[in-house]
Amino acid sequence: MPELNLKSQHASSPAVSPPPGTGTGKPLSVTDLRKTYSGLTAVDTVSMEIAGGEFVTFLGSSGSGKTTTLMMIAGFCEPDSGSIVVGGRDVTRLAPQKRGLGFVFQQYLLFPHMTVWENVAFPLQLRGVPKAELRRRVGETLEIAGLSAMARRRPRELSGGQQQRVALCRALVYRPPVILMDEPLGALDKKLRDQLQTEIKRIQQELGLTVIYVTHDQEEALVLSDRIAVMRDGLIDQFDTPRELFERPRTPFVADFLGAANFLPGTVQQQTSEQTLVRLDTGGLLNARSQGGAEGAQIRAAVQPGRLRLCTPGDGFCTGTVETVTYVGTLVRVTVRPAGDAATGLVRLELPAGQAPVIGEQVSLTADPDDVSVFAVEGGG
Ligand code: ADP
Ligand code: MG
Repeated sequence: MPELNLKSQHASSPAVSPPPGTGTGKPLSVTDLRKTYSGLTAVDTVSMEIAGGEFVTFLGSSGSGKTTTLMMIAGFCEPDSGSIVVGGRDVTRLAPQKRGLGFVFQQYLLFPHMTVWENVAFPLQLRGVPKAELRRRVGETLEIAGLSAMARRRPRELSGGQQQRVALCRALVYRPPVILMDEPLGALDKKLRDQLQTEIKRIQQELGLTVIYVTHDQEEALVLSDRIAVMRDGLIDQFDTPRELFERPRTPFVADFLGAANFLPGTVQQQTSEQTLVRLDTGGLLNARSQGGAEGAQIRAAVQPGRLRLCTPGDGFCTGTVETVTYVGTLVRVTVRPAGDAATGLVRLELPAGQAPVIGEQVSLTADPDDVSVFAVEGGG
């Protein structure tokens, strides 16, 4: 595989001086970054450490501060306070081009008058890379992205997906220690987006790239990332592996944003060091492995639709009536109106299609304690 050679060739290449971030220390460390715009806090003390070869995603809804954080790391936006260290070197006050980072944005920002080849060669020309070395690198990078056959075309002769691949090549070609991507697939349709996600992940893994990626799309974040920083109101709610975010959400927001969790109101009936026994408002008992607080405390128990199961009456934590059944490929989405408490609202399940109940059926629901997270009701009570 030529791709595998590329890595070692680049790593040992003497022709290009190493980017400023290269050296000892973590690829990236951000401490207490903060940015306000005339009184409005866009980013509120964001801190994180990113290891070499890691794919990290900022995930959050629009306005949560993802782009502002990325722009501060890139150097296009000056932080009010805090510091950014790339490869052991403080770059907080350095101009973007002196930080040695690569960027890919939603708008491709290719030079329209240049060919694909020239666009990708441009960063190397800027850095004074000798001709032979430049040719080799551009050729290899285009090959890795499947663009070799299009080297002579201009951006307007390419599809959106191809243009975005060129933009990716341009960021890859000088092997920056960290590549920053802000919603790079946001302008593409779903099918192309899926395809490019796979491609970005493949290239990142083959070359051992360190990537910081921004998206508002949970699925995209889950597909791509080693770790995800879930952002809300300028803060990181939780920075963890996709699995930890699913299985150990630290806030109701994370449980809801990633898993579209059901939230079942109740009170803590018994708290041991290992488990919380919850008396749900619907009357049933539910066991959770997370800590729920003092006995009698009002809580919400969060369970993802895919982690609920049907069971024999009497074994479950609640019974109810099936209201809707929707087939989604091999899965079926089911809503159940629980008996016993009108305020609890519909419970959503996702089951294998073969286990689909029928509308109007009485069912009992159960969940593994490991799949239940308990959160205090905000504002006490
Ligand atoms: P995201 O990328 O998560 O959608 P942003 O980082 O773009 O969020 O924005 C975070 C907050 O900062 C938003 O409330 C946004 O309106 C505000 N903001 C971003 N850039 C500016 C700016 N240049 N001037 C004023 N407010 C801004
Ligand atoms: Mg943004």
